[in-house]
Amino acid sequence: MPGQSLGFIGLGRMGGPMVGRLLDAGHALTVFDTSEAAVEPLIARGAVRAGSAAEVASAAEIVLASLPTPDVVHQVALGESGVAEGSRVRIMIDLSTTGPGVAGRVAQGLAGRGIQAVDAPVSGGIKGAREGTLAVMVSCPKATLESVEPIVRTFGKVFYVGEKPGLAQVVKLGNNMLAATALLASSEALAMGVKAGVDPKVMIDIVNASSGRNSATQDKFPRAILPGTFDFGFATGLSYKDVRLCVDEAEALGVPMVLGALVRQMLAVTQAKYGATSDFTSIAKVIEEWAGVEIRG
Ligand code: NAD
Repeated sequence: MPGQSLGFIGLGRMGGPMVGRLLDAGHALTVFDTSEAAVEPLIARGAVRAGSAAEVASAAEIVLASLPTPDVVHQVALGESGVAEGSRVRIMIDLSTTGPGVAGRVAQGLAGRGIQAVDAPVSGGIKGAREGTLAVMVSCPKATLESVEPIVRTFGKVFYVGEKPGLAQVVKLGNNMLAATALLASSEALAMGVKAGVDPKVMIDIVNASSGRNSATQDKFPRAILPGTFDFGFATGLSYKDVRLCVDEAEALGVPMVLGALVRQMLAVTQAKYGATSDFTSIAKVIEEWAGVEIRG
């Protein structure tokens, strides 16, 4: 439904382009971010600035959020000057990756204020956010899905996971553990090839025409590792958080996750060495250093 009045909190690498798409679709947006640099370009495009999450939630019935960590989402939803204090809000759609634990607690806290939580983590990176080609995983009551689907469809393909809050988060965590695993495994294979004397560009082309192809060889290596830019657009700290949440959730469910635990530690190494704000493709730099080669082409 174009022309709806919506709120959006968290205008970062994902949130910024998503607000851009909602504006392009004809919606009126009230926005908030703690970083002025994130807010300004969207005000220039017609969004209205709010001074807090509560102000956003007093301006719109449906509020979306794309925030970095579970703690921040909890604070923004239920803390001081948070969404729960808003006077108009009916539905909060959380597009962040926060894990099922916080999704459940936030849903319960918001329900106490008559607000319905919609768990809607996304996958597909900044490019997907810009182009509207994200996978949007949704868990919420079926009746609520009807109200939110036309909005989240602006971001890409919608997959309904179920009614229980946090169910979509479980799917998202599994996906991100797989994406990080593919990146690490591909870095090891490429480092071996380069050390043996293979041109990494040739090896990537071969893998992408063979059974080893994956999201890292098809996208991350050509875009951010072979050119040596390490600017894919997903922070090491966020990937580490996702895999940590994934392994914790598996453990809570009694599911052994041997490989996931290993990837989690490799992201801990990458974060210790390159910092939480480094790009998560920096995991390849750790392998490069250990192997004594550079994977460039
Ligand atoms: P980001 O760090 O670029 O953006 C987060 C934004 O939230 C920043 O602008 C920050 O200033 C703002 N913020 C932090 N605390 C706040 C608060 N208390 N109130 C208001 N604003 C606050 O992160 P991102 O890459 O855009 O990721 C956002 C979420 O989406 C994360 O949960 C991430 O795991 C998930 N995600 C990211 C990608 C990706 O490729 N970057 C892909 C899929 C999902």
